[in-house]
Amino acid sequence: MEKEVAELRRVIRDIPNFPKPGIVFKDITPLLGNGELFKQTIDLLADRYRSHGVDMVLGIESRGFIIGAALAYRLGAGFCIVRKPGKLPYETHRTTYELEYGSDALEVHRDALLPQARVLIVDDLIATGGTAAAATALVSKLEGEVVECAFVIELSFLNGREKLKPYPVFSLIQYDSE
Ligand code: AMP
Repeated sequence: MEKEVAELRRVIRDIPNFPKPGIVFKDITPLLGNGELFKQTIDLLADRYRSHGVDMVLGIESRGFIIGAALAYRLGAGFCIVRKPGKLPYETHRTTYELEYGSDALEVHRDALLPQARVLIVDDLIATGGTAAAATALVSKLEGEVVECAFVIELSFLNGREKLKPYPVFSLIQYDSE
């Protein structure tokens, strides 16, 4: 697994000062653009979760859809989408969360999960953990059970895991500093 993860890490591109000054954006488009490495990413995650009894993968807009949908297909699980406000057509639950400056919100359809569904939350990257924590709140509202929160990339120096406690967190690639 270490060798495969090192190959993924090698193609992730740093974009300094995007989308704002001071942010180093981790660009996964070169990884997605390489069929072998994209497959490797999904297979590594699928290997981990095959025996976890996952009913639903929940993907967070928008790169979480790319990773999450491919993973759901591989696991034979359903796929549930969590989106920014105003995008989902049916009745929704909403949760708001704090950003560095201001706040944001995420929504999910009210019938997206059955009660007690075993849900794997997926996004491309965890930074402060606020986005994924909001997704766990939505799963709670729908009475689902969070199996784990899974990410391709973890910016460990931002301690996002703390915000997700007590839920387990897994990432393929960690960065200990910017
Ligand atoms: P956070 O809520 O702080 O954990 O931020 C996570 C969300 O913001 C994820 O949906 C990421 O795709 C995106 N994000 C935050 N920081 C970065 C970064 N440095 N590079 C790429 N995406 C990021």
